[in-house]
Amino acid sequence: MNVIIFGPPGAGKGTQAINIVKKFNLFQVSTGDLLRTEVKNQTSVGKDIENIISKGDFATDEIVNELIKKIVNDPQKKNKLIFDGYPRSLSQAKNLDILLKNSSQKIDFIFFLNVKKETVIKRIEKRSLLENRADDNLATILKRYDTYMETTKPVLDFYIKNVNFYEIDGSEEIAGISTKIEQILSV
Ligand code: AMP
Repeated sequence: MNVIIFGPPGAGKGTQAINIVKKFNLFQVSTGDLLRTEVKNQTSVGKDIENIISKGDFATDEIVNELIKKIVNDPQKKNKLIFDGYPRSLSQAKNLDILLKNSSQKIDFIFFLNVKKETVIKRIEKRSLLENRADDNLATILKRYDTYMETTKPVLDFYIKNVNFYEIDGSEEIAGISTKIEQILSV
């Protein structure tokens, strides 16, 4: 099965994706990680995106779609993909549809981990206390929250009518959310 998990920063997508990977033997596809690897390896793409990522802007669809293409077409990962942080725009969502169709695959489950801004603030404040982070971190994350909600709204509209679309309350405890997701995936 192929799964998409999406939601704003602070919703706990990464944590849930890691859990699903373990339980269902899938491959986590995080475009954030893929982009950071390009930067680290100083590839030609990496040099272009370093600035973009550091500013909190989005990498171009062209770059991200190219990275995703290799993974979707990898026979070892066929029907074992969990997308975390992708698609983030309507163009990326449409591209993913085409890539999957061309390799005789589809999306089987879409989870939208929804979390209110106030909950994200509470979580980050708690983390700031624990890790002694600067306050401007909160401002940055809140900006990313707004950008995310704005830019992924068309993606949400694109998937919401899908029968396999599930909205999950991301403000609940991690374990409770995991159980819900596992139950849906086990049917
Ligand atoms: P993440 O680790 O998912 O929070 O992503 C970190 C950063 O990588 C984001 O703030 C964006 O700059 C970039 N990024 C990750 N995924 C995408 C994507 N699907 N499209 C465009 N930019 C992305």
